[in-house]
Amino acid sequence: MPTSAQIEKYVKTLTRAMDLGAMNFEIRIVDDDSIFASVRCVTSTDYFLTISRSLLEYPRKFQRWVLVHELMHTIVHPFSKLARSSLTKSGLSAKERAFRQDALESSEEEIVDKLSSAISPYLPLPEWT
Ligand SMILES: [Zn+2]
Repeated sequence: MPTSAQIEKYVKTLTRAMDLGAMNFEIRIVDDDSIFASVRCVTSTDYFLTISRSLLEYPRKFQRWVLVHELMHTIVHPFSKLARSSLTKSGLSAKERAFRQDALESSEEEIVDKLSSAISPYLPLPEWT
């Protein structure tokens, strides 16, 4: 099992490779099998990156894919925020708003999934030794 310092170092390697070096990630390692990882925006440059200990038991290629996926969310975050803000101002019915919210969230997941699949193979794998 990697140490917190090893995980932080690897996330730093990924953020530099993805040109996200100006962003700050506060990393939390949690015992939560309901997620592999998640990212939450605090400010435009500060994020919480939560990583489940269970992810660290999966193959390193999958660990890399999941972490790149989460980091991709920070790239699409400004677009998502703008799109979400339009939902509250457009005078939509609650049903239509919920439908559009679901469509927005599922399309964001699909975008970051596909970008992570395309880019991950070009990024370093974690070295936990
Ligand atoms: Zn996601």
